[in-house]
Amino acid sequence: MKIQMLPREKVFRDPIHNYIHVQHKVILDLINTKEFQRLRRIKQLGTSSFTFQGAEHSRFTHCMGVYEITRQICDNFQRNYPSKESGDGLWNDDERIVALCAALLHDLGHGPYSHTFEHIFDTDHEMWTQKIITSPETEINQILKQVSDDFPEKVASVIDHTYPNPQVVQMISSQIDADRMDYLLRDAYFTGTKYGMFDLTRILRVMRPYNKGIAFDNDGMHAVEDYVLCRFQMYQQIYFHPVSRGMEVVLTKLLQRAKDLYEHNQMNGFEMPSLLVPFFTGNVSINDYLSLDDGILNTYFTLWQNYPDEILKDLAYRFLSRKPFKSAQYNSDTKEKLPELADLVESAGFDKDYYTAINTSFDLPYDIYNPRQHKRKTQIEIMQDDGSLIELSTISRLVNALTGKISGDERFYFPKSMIVEHSNDIFSDHYRAFKGHIHNDMIV
Ligand code: ZN
Repeated sequence: MKIQMLPREKVFRDPIHNYIHVQHKVILDLINTKEFQRLRRIKQLGTSSFTFQGAEHSRFTHCMGVYEITRQICDNFQRNYPSKESGDGLWNDDERIVALCAALLHDLGHGPYSHTFEHIFDTDHEMWTQKIITSPETEINQILKQVSDDFPEKVASVIDHTYPNPQVVQMISSQIDADRMDYLLRDAYFTGTKYGMFDLTRILRVMRPYNKGIAFDNDGMHAVEDYVLCRFQMYQQIYFHPVSRGMEVVLTKLLQRAKDLYEHNQMNGFEMPSLLVPFFTGNVSINDYLSLDDGILNTYFTLWQNYPDEILKDLAYRFLSRKPFKSAQYNSDTKEKLPELADLVESAGFDKDYYTAINTSFDLPYDIYNPRQHKRKTQIEIMQDDGSLIELSTISRLVNALTGKISGDERFYFPKSMIVEHSNDIFSDHYRAFKGHIHNDMIV
């Protein structure tokens, strides 16, 4: 491996970490690739900026932040827990460069409005991240290859959790990792909310390597506990906000309509969205994938406002002009009413396939290791003074209250005009009846 240092450290100013320190030439070269620079043009939070107007920050800034937190963890491990012989469970600083590269590149495969886009076009950002890293045609791959021939595969294996050193894998991906720590702080800052403000400095201070991964010192238990609660609050208050989801539903239906029109040859004769055609046909090259960003999609939406198709036109207008669908929470008792409500939306002149939707948002705030689960969680381990490990929820009553419990809600979405006073009395009556079944009757 050839690891070249920069003649002088380079710093990037950042509102969350103040300075982001770059010391290795490979990191600076990776930042300067076209694939990494593309992340400047993709918003970190997608439709959340329609609810929290400050949330315009990009995936680029988040990736830089995850890199910086990882760098600080490596520094701290090297200062306080350097390995003396192989297999002693302490930190081997030869692992630093693979950890830093994986941290920087972990979100490389995100597309515009990621989750919505992935859902409609059946793509997967983690798969694309690995593909961009390992395909010889990308600038990223060529830079990584300069370290060693097998280095791109090593970095990709950290991202798919198969890298042999669990300390490196858990730094980037676990229930308390550099990725989550950066996005909670960054999203809290840019949304202007305070729920995500846990004590990062303290957590980094109490983090330590051991032979199976990363643990936390006993006296840092409360800082870790606070992080778990912050994450829970951010999901409930920011990520699951019903209005952002109302915009996500509009976007989903808009992309769905475009895809359906293409499949039925109804776009012929009008300007073809050529950068989206590979996604409509399911035949996507790396170059096609990397050509997309938020700006490209928004440009197509602007053009679609002048298409002859009424549904495409209307949904594009709703998305660009922030006209979210309204929603009502439902539960297992009221679920059976949904087809009836959808029919009423249809009888008011809306195509129910494009103007009604079910949207569910659920998260598991924290979970213990369960070998039977499909996606196994690495539990948070607290190291006692005698060196033994205790799983966090067994000593924190607060975390215990959240452990293994899925939280979130299920909502039915429909156009706002359905509940505007006098606009549609039949719907309003049924809607009131529907609402009568909901104990916590929130319309948002
Ligand atoms: Zn991330």
